[in-house]
Amino acid sequence: MKKRNPTLFSFGKVFCSIFGHKLRVSKNVTDHVHEYKCEKCGMEMTDTANGFLARLTPKFRETNDYISKIHKKRKRKHFAQAS
Ligand SMILES: [Zn+2]
Repeated sequence: MKKRNPTLFSFGKVFCSIFGHKLRVSKNVTDHVHEYKCEKCGMEMTDTANGFLARLTPKFRETNDYISKIHKKRKRKHFAQAS
């Protein structure tokens, strides 16, 4: 098995370490929580519940998915009430 070396990715990393990441919002989780992606190296970040910016780990992604589902449900006004 051959391991491919993602040269573009490592170039982006070098670029970012010099110029800093160029983060773009990639997803609105809620009005206050967003996911970001670096245009250069593809690194993903997220807002956390306590207002910090953290590396978007699978765990955070899971949490964000969950939060966004609740958020969307809350926003929907046609939530049928069981009688
Ligand atoms: Zn970057």
